[in-house]
Amino acid sequence: MSARLDLERCSRCGRCLEVCPGGLLRAGPDGRPTLAEPERCWSCAACLKECPNQALALSLPPSLGGRGTLLTAARRPDGLEWTAHFPDGRTKTLRS
Ligand code: SF4
Ligand code: SF4
Repeated sequence: MSARLDLERCSRCGRCLEVCPGGLLRAGPDGRPTLAEPERCWSCAACLKECPNQALALSLPPSLGGRGTLLTAARRPDGLEWTAHFPDGRTKTLRS
């Protein structure tokens, strides 16, 4: 389980680069982040919570939603909105 980047959604704001506690996200030549050493990503979700465009997602293990399920986070006025995107197109959203 590690962070993934949706290049189409990334606006190159750089916010995720500042919050990864392991310094694993680094700016590529085009300004978009790349995940250096993905095996060191411990899925803390700090980068997801900071991204204003839901360009970052975590790939969930089978025990938490099945193969291919992605988790995104969005800041809302009343808190964080977590959405699981299942491989069959369904989604499930929770607030925290
Ligand atoms: S999930 Fe955490 S450890 Fe992994 S890249 Fe994002 S901020 Fe870094
Ligand atoms: S926070 Fe999101 S939009 Fe900003 S650079 Fe990172 S992935 Fe791209």
